[in-house]
Amino acid sequence: MFKRVNRLAIQLPVPEHGDANAAAAVQNLLGGKFGEMSTLNNYMFQSFNFRCKKKLKPFYDLVASITAEEFGHVELVSTTINLLSTGLTHPGDPDSTPLRRGLKAHNLQYFIATAQTSFPMDSMGNPWNGSFVHSSGNLIEDMLHNFFLEVGARTQKMRVYEMTDHPTAREMIGYLLVRGGTHALAYAKALEILTGVYIPDMIPIPSLDNSHFDHARKYMEQGLHNVLFTWSSKDYRDIDKIWKGTNPETGERLCVVVGRPEGAPMPDLESLPEEFAPGLTKDHYLQVLKRLKASM
Ligand code: MN
Ligand code: MN
Repeated sequence: MFKRVNRLAIQLPVPEHGDANAAAAVQNLLGGKFGEMSTLNNYMFQSFNFRCKKKLKPFYDLVASITAEEFGHVELVSTTINLLSTGLTHPGDPDSTPLRRGLKAHNLQYFIATAQTSFPMDSMGNPWNGSFVHSSGNLIEDMLHNFFLEVGARTQKMRVYEMTDHPTAREMIGYLLVRGGTHALAYAKALEILTGVYIPDMIPIPSLDNSHFDHARKYMEQGLHNVLFTWSSKDYRDIDKIWKGTNPETGERLCVVVGRPEGAPMPDLESLPEEFAPGLTKDHYLQVLKRLKASM
C-alpha cells in the first residue's frame, strides 16, 4: 500500500510569469519515454511482479522504495509544469480572445484540453503509454534496464536544462539530476553484487557530472547524491545491503535514511476564469460552502 503526504519534494520558486514552451519541454520529463511516468511505472510493476521477494529482499526493497520516490518525482515535474503556466493568460470576455496566446505555444493541448496544467504526454503531446514499461521477470535484465532508464532520463533532463533558464524549471531539474544520478548508481551497485561487474566505472553518462549544473550543486552540498531513503518507517531497510561503501564520483560515504525527506509545502494554483477552471463563480462557491458545512 502507499501512504500519501501532502508535501512537495522540494521548494519550487513560484514565478510571476511562466513560459508555455518551457512547460512543453518539461512535459518530456514527465510523459516521455524516459520521463518520470516511465521510471514510476517500471519500478512499480517490477516490484509488484518480483519473484522471491524474501530470498532476494535487498533487491526487492531497492525497487520498491525507489518506486515511492518516483511517485514524488511525477508530482514534482507536474507541479513544475503547472507553475510554468503562471500568468500566461488573463481573464476576459470570450469575444476578446483571452486565450489567444495559446496559439503561439508549441503544445496547444495546454490551452485547449488541460486548462494549462500537466498531462501524461511528451513535449509534442504524444500520450505516455504502457509499452514504456519493462518488467521482464529476470532480475539482472530489469536492473540493467533500470540503470539505462535512469541514465537516459538524466540525459534528457540535461538537454531540457540547456533549452530553458526559467528558474522554476531549473530548480526541479537540478534536484532530479542529483536524485537520478543516485538511482543510476544504486542500480549499478545492485548489478555489481549480482554479476561482479563494476559498472560504476561507466558513470556518469554522458560524461558531465552534476557539478557542471548551477542548480544541481546546491543539492550536492546537501549530500543528496549520497542518500537513499526507505520511504517507509519500517520496511525496505535492506537497501543498505546494496547502498553501502563510497560514492565513486566523490569518495564520500553512502548512507540510507529511514523514512522520507522533509519536503516543502505544496503550492496552490489560482483559478483561471478564462479556462473555466475550476469553474465556480463566487455565488456558486458560497452555496457549495454552505452545503459543505451543513450537517446532512
Ligand atoms: Mn525520477
Ligand atoms: Mn529515478
